[in-house]
Amino acid sequence: MIEVRNLTKKYGDKVAVRNISFKVEKGEILGFLGPNGAGKSTTMNMLTGYISSTSGEVLIDGTDILEDPRKAKANIGYLPEIPPLYVDMTVEAYLSFIYDLKKCKLPRSAHIKDVCSLCKIEDVKHRIIKNLSKGYRQRVGLAQALINNPPVLILDEPTVGLDPNQIIEIRSLIKKLGKRHTVILSSHILPEIQAVCDRIIIINKGEVAADGTADEIANNITNEHKMTLRIEGPTHTADDKRLITDAIKGIQGVKYIRADMEREKGIYDYDVETDGQTDVRREINRVCSENGWNILMLQLSDLTLEDIFLKITMDEGIGSKNDKKKKAASPKIGLKVDDKGRLNAVKEGEEEEKEEAEPEKAAENEENNGGEE
Ligand code: ADP
Repeated sequence: MIEVRNLTKKYGDKVAVRNISFKVEKGEILGFLGPNGAGKSTTMNMLTGYISSTSGEVLIDGTDILEDPRKAKANIGYLPEIPPLYVDMTVEAYLSFIYDLKKCKLPRSAHIKDVCSLCKIEDVKHRIIKNLSKGYRQRVGLAQALINNPPVLILDEPTVGLDPNQIIEIRSLIKKLGKRHTVILSSHILPEIQAVCDRIIIINKGEVAADGTADEIANNITNEHKMTLRIEGPTHTADDKRLITDAIKGIQGVKYIRADMEREKGIYDYDVETDGQTDVRREINRVCSENGWNILMLQLSDLTLEDIFLKITMDEGIGSKNDKKKKAASPKIGLKVDDKGRLNAVKEGEEEEKEEAEPEKAAENEENNGGEE
């Protein structure tokens, strides 16, 4: 349904999007995930023909967006980050205006009524848009994207600035829309993308850093697999710790072991990393039982999508399975969700890294706040 080939956008010397390619199949909900400034809006603006690309192609249902914009755009409903609303109009008058703009052929009042009902804005349709809450305005933005029933919906950060209840409502609406439309949704909020999307593209510094389902990204991109063990030795002393560490280090498939905290007197936790291909649990069990050690806990902790997202966006790259040095150098990363549900990364021993809105972006949004066509 959508094909992007080697898309690049430069602003002067600055490369905002570099050589990205991907396809979106009919009926998919694709999440475009990346920190602020990663290039999400720029990509979406190129997908919708809002801005032109420096090089590369965007095909919407086989039609090049720059060669035949009218035909390609007829397939797209776009909700930019700041919805292109005419705030002095009533909701109904505005949607009717968009209906004309899109040269919609569906029966006018029935179609607008359907869209209002889907977006749950029937009760405000006679109100002036500027008097509506942000949540309602966002739904009106979504409604304008749905006029003419386009097969493709492109939604740029659709829940930004909404309160938690409004976020839940918009997410469930998007899931519902995904049953009838191909959807591309951008967000810098990982749980949002996980809650709504079938497939995820992680974009960082203008490049595609990962592409797949959440599980595929978490399982396949990295071969790091981790577990935590708590083992009780016979003497409850540091001698146990050394013997246990040495024995487990010798098991095939174990790449790394480190004794962690003393959990009970003389009983330690051990962080173990494996090659990701060998299931070492039975062998660990055998070695422990042969030595008369008790396994008090075994917890698998494969890298989650959060870990991967943070690794990518905090400039650590994705470790290859043999890249021990990089792993050893990897700082411990904590996650903090702020009051707006945004995911912030905190490196151990460092101040919380706050995401900051980019000044250029505000200016760009102002520019783009003019309408879809
Ligand atoms: P995102 O949507 O992921 O937050 P953007 O696509 O808005 O990221 O921005 C990607 C990069 O391109 C950023 O570094 C941003 O500052 C830059 N950028 C975006 N729009 C413009 C513009 N009109 N002029 C110059 N630089 C821009």
